[in-house]
Amino acid sequence: MQTSFTLAQLADPHIAESEKILRACVHCGFCTATCPTYVLDGNELDSPRGRIYLIKDMLENDRAPTPDVAEHIDRCLSCLACMTTCPSGVHYMHLVDHARAHIEHTFARPLGERALRTVLAKVMPYPHRFRLALYAALAAKPLAPLLQAIGLKRLAAMLRLAPWRGPQRPCEPRTFPATGARKGRVALLAGCVNDVLAPQINAATIGVLTRHGIEVVLPHGAGCCGSLVHHMGREGEALAQARANIDAWSAVEGLDAILVTSSGCGTTVKDYGFMFRTDPAYAERAGRVAKLAKDIVEYLVGLPLEADRRAPGLVVAYHSACSLQHGQRVTRQPKELLAKLGFLVKDVPDGHLCCGSAGTYNILQPDIARRLRERKVGTIERLRPDVIAAGNIGCITQIAAGTELPAVHTVELIDWATGGSCPPTLREYRLPTALQSPAAAAEHRLGRRS
Ligand code: SF4
Ligand code: SF4
Repeated sequence: MQTSFTLAQLADPHIAESEKILRACVHCGFCTATCPTYVLDGNELDSPRGRIYLIKDMLENDRAPTPDVAEHIDRCLSCLACMTTCPSGVHYMHLVDHARAHIEHTFARPLGERALRTVLAKVMPYPHRFRLALYAALAAKPLAPLLQAIGLKRLAAMLRLAPWRGPQRPCEPRTFPATGARKGRVALLAGCVNDVLAPQINAATIGVLTRHGIEVVLPHGAGCCGSLVHHMGREGEALAQARANIDAWSAVEGLDAILVTSSGCGTTVKDYGFMFRTDPAYAERAGRVAKLAKDIVEYLVGLPLEADRRAPGLVVAYHSACSLQHGQRVTRQPKELLAKLGFLVKDVPDGHLCCGSAGTYNILQPDIARRLRERKVGTIERLRPDVIAAGNIGCITQIAAGTELPAVHTVELIDWATGGSCPPTLREYRLPTALQSPAAAAEHRLGRRS
């Protein structure tokens, strides 16, 4: 694609990077077929190619977007399916990140929207604040249908996503020693939303690692990875949160890896090297952190995990989170590991399409997010699985809000199958007999299929 930036504009490293990305696009349109927003509505301006044109125009002319342009870019899920499809290697992620930051600086959003975005940015990345907000959401949850009826769809979406049970206390910084001889040492990103909504994910991660001789460190000072605000274009806040993590992890000696259980966060941490490429004080350490970052399953496949005799052989619909499959290109490992441990893994048809979660997307764009969830839940339920597994808390929450099936993190099943406890979501569900033996699990499956 031809561009016409001036030399003065190209002196800005962010513009120079975006120009390089724009030039790589040959506007073939292959990416449109796998873009969830284009698949839903067929509008070229809600496709990757359409958005690329809008971003080019906005950046070249160095102007604020019109409300329409901002809306088309806001509707992008940052699912990155277009990057997997693109034959020309267009780095859409960095381009849309730049566009979002430009919009944030130049576009005056309506007051209500600005207020909502500010609340999300000031609450969700901070576990103690988020926990208090979830108590309020729990109390107000029955009002969701009323709010929906009077047109307050975003508030209604927020309440619907809040779990019915009370939030948990976030993990305190500490070190979890390995059981037996120490074979490795890792830092774990405890996360923000993850830790409050589903502490069982970190518990399962720590359990399976320490049982296999890996020491797990949750260092002081680490917190949100920055992706929640990064995707809202709030660059300053995202970089500040990333810096705190880089400082915290760099202070820990002898790390083999920095593990992330939420793939949306993992994609961002793996991009720290790029985010700090122009910051001389952080560039080197950020690059080191990015190299050490691994999704939990990427690390676990390197350990000699063995199925415990309790491995139940349940049918698992594996939902491949966009950030894991498109953002990090981790696709086979989770399914292979689950299968090795005795689960019957089924691929979800149209698995490249997003479930509509995408960070705060399901709050900010509730209609599209709901349609994508209905589509995803439909394809999952047709598989008649016993349980849904995914590697991202956003997907788990989003999908669970639309189905009666239990949805858990992949690492919860891995922990359970290797001698840890049964995931609480399954315990609360309807599998009490299936927990006891593989034979009972098989019987249970036959019962559900008859
Ligand atoms: S597939 Fe790649 S090169 Fe083709 S239009 Fe999409 S982004 Fe551009
Ligand atoms: S990131 Fe996803 S929603 Fe956005 S343009 Fe690419 S495929 Fe479409």
